[in-house]
Amino acid sequence: MSVSPLPRRAVLALALSACALPSAAAPGGPTPADLLGATGEPYFLDWLNDFYARALAGGASKTVLDRELSGISPDPRVSSRDASQPEFARPVSDYIRGVVTADRIALGIRKRTAISQFPAIEQTYGVPRDILIGVWAMESGFGALQGDMDVVRCLATLAALGRRRAWAEGELTAALKIIGSGEATRSQMKGSWAGAMGQTQFIPSAFLSTAVDADGDGKRDIWGSAPDALASAANLLAKGGWRRGESWHREVILRSGFDYGLSEGPKDVPGWWESKGARRADGQAWSKADAAAPASLILPCGLAGPAFLIFQNHMAIRTYNNSIAYALGVGLLADRFAGGGPLKTPWPKETPLSLTDRMDAQSALQKLGYNPGQPDGVVGLNTRQSLRAWQKARGLPADGYLSPDMIRRLKAEANGGKPG
Ligand code: CA
Repeated sequence: MSVSPLPRRAVLALALSACALPSAAAPGGPTPADLLGATGEPYFLDWLNDFYARALAGGASKTVLDRELSGISPDPRVSSRDASQPEFARPVSDYIRGVVTADRIALGIRKRTAISQFPAIEQTYGVPRDILIGVWAMESGFGALQGDMDVVRCLATLAALGRRRAWAEGELTAALKIIGSGEATRSQMKGSWAGAMGQTQFIPSAFLSTAVDADGDGKRDIWGSAPDALASAANLLAKGGWRRGESWHREVILRSGFDYGLSEGPKDVPGWWESKGARRADGQAWSKADAAAPASLILPCGLAGPAFLIFQNHMAIRTYNNSIAYALGVGLLADRFAGGGPLKTPWPKETPLSLTDRMDAQSALQKLGYNPGQPDGVVGLNTRQSLRAWQKARGLPADGYLSPDMIRRLKAEANGGKPG
């Protein structure tokens, strides 16, 4: 964070108040960026001039804007993170192995009895502590790794870069509002390069709308108070559609001849899935709540890996981070904290796919008349559904899983070779 000495700030405030901003951006006149002493490339200063004027017009506090944006500059670490796309996509199996570790399970189990507010939090929001501890573990290593970047500067940089401008400006405005309200100081507002703060990594808008005080001191402190952070996470999940008493996922075993094309498809109750050949891996009976709850099937590593029925609560976890792997990670940790054992079907060894391979597969699907979306290397739902349709048409198990073998077959067919 760039901190100006106080005397300069006083001068600046006077200069700003005398200058009738935002019209100060007139040709030749001083701009808000000049008056704020901001530095950086033209894209950043242009954005700052524009944002300052719009923020003022939108009702932001001039005092807070002047104080918090004075001397600001873009953070080069944010630009490089925002632009980077890893060459190899991390396979889900590898990601989960990194998440569900023996150390984390042992620590998480100890945390179950470490927070005296857990019974009240569970009662109020209906979210079990094991899920909250899973989120806590994933987001900040149980509060130990909250990020030390200046969230205001990071969000300003992201807004100026422009790829996610509307989002970043909204979050920056929320961050300034938090500081203006006195709920947190600028020096407290530390977090990740993408603006996530505190023990449960809330973005500023989520803090404003959803953070709660659970330790009874009247302050919402997601940085210093584990009960506040965990209750805030519970509130976020509850708002995200958490259903009290239902599971998040359950591992299932698929009988031979199962129609893999049902994955990421219909939503129905566990009894329907049983009729299709998916039975609960642990052999237990479904609870009354689960038996009436619609679920869909996922095969994160295709037919070679574990299969799960996912319930609404899996989707609620994805309000935190909209990724199947993330939600599975939280849920699998929770299963272990609650005393469950490892999966019945182990995670297979997967081959990381290069960006070129993923884009080639998408281009091949397009060429063959399917609709995977623009070839961008992101294997999302459209790509998987296209792949399933192609697999089905070729008489292959339609698991929608892009393996090196599938890529080879797709490319050969698209280049005029024989089908699969
Ligand atoms: Ca508190």
